[in-house]
Amino acid sequence: MSAPPVDAVHSPSLDGRSSERPVDRVGRPPGSDPGGVRLQAARAAAARVADPEIPVLSIDDLGILHDIAIDENGRVLVTILPTYSGCPATGVIALGVVTELAKDGFPDARVRLGNTPAWSTGRMSEAAREKLRACGISPPGRASGKRALFAPSPGVDCPRCGSGDTERISEFGSTACKAHWRCRACREPFDHFKCV
Ligand SMILES: [Zn+2]
Repeated sequence: MSAPPVDAVHSPSLDGRSSERPVDRVGRPPGSDPGGVRLQAARAAAARVADPEIPVLSIDDLGILHDIAIDENGRVLVTILPTYSGCPATGVIALGVVTELAKDGFPDARVRLGNTPAWSTGRMSEAAREKLRACGISPPGRASGKRALFAPSPGVDCPRCGSGDTERISEFGSTACKAHWRCRACREPFDHFKCV
């Protein structure tokens, strides 16, 4: 193994976050975005925002991040879909989106709450379901419906041992969108993300 060339020490950071983005700099009218580079950068920044109630999941994993646009003045407009009306996490998420965009050079971003399409657990990615299982939360089923939030969820599998021999202990777990369950096979309690 040879040592890296000395030049490498002085090369710009590769993570792209500490260096300035050489995008849309000189000679272009505000808002022009050849190749959608700025739009992609804005989306990547917003997608970093974690869900405040389930920090292992980003708002992108959950399908909460719906749409991003840049207006003619270069201002970013983000549309998020609240998980259910009155969810206290929504304000925290909106603040997180504005903060992350500002870090990446998009000041004064606006966040709009969309309601079409309505958010449902069906918008969660398969990767998101895996992340939930990995941290001991049973993911929602694929069915969705308005009343499912307060209805018993049939067929909840234990995220630890996979057994279907489970019972619900309480309608509400650590947050309103989760219910508290227990596995009869391994006797471990767990949270189940309710289906909406
Ligand atoms: Zn179990």
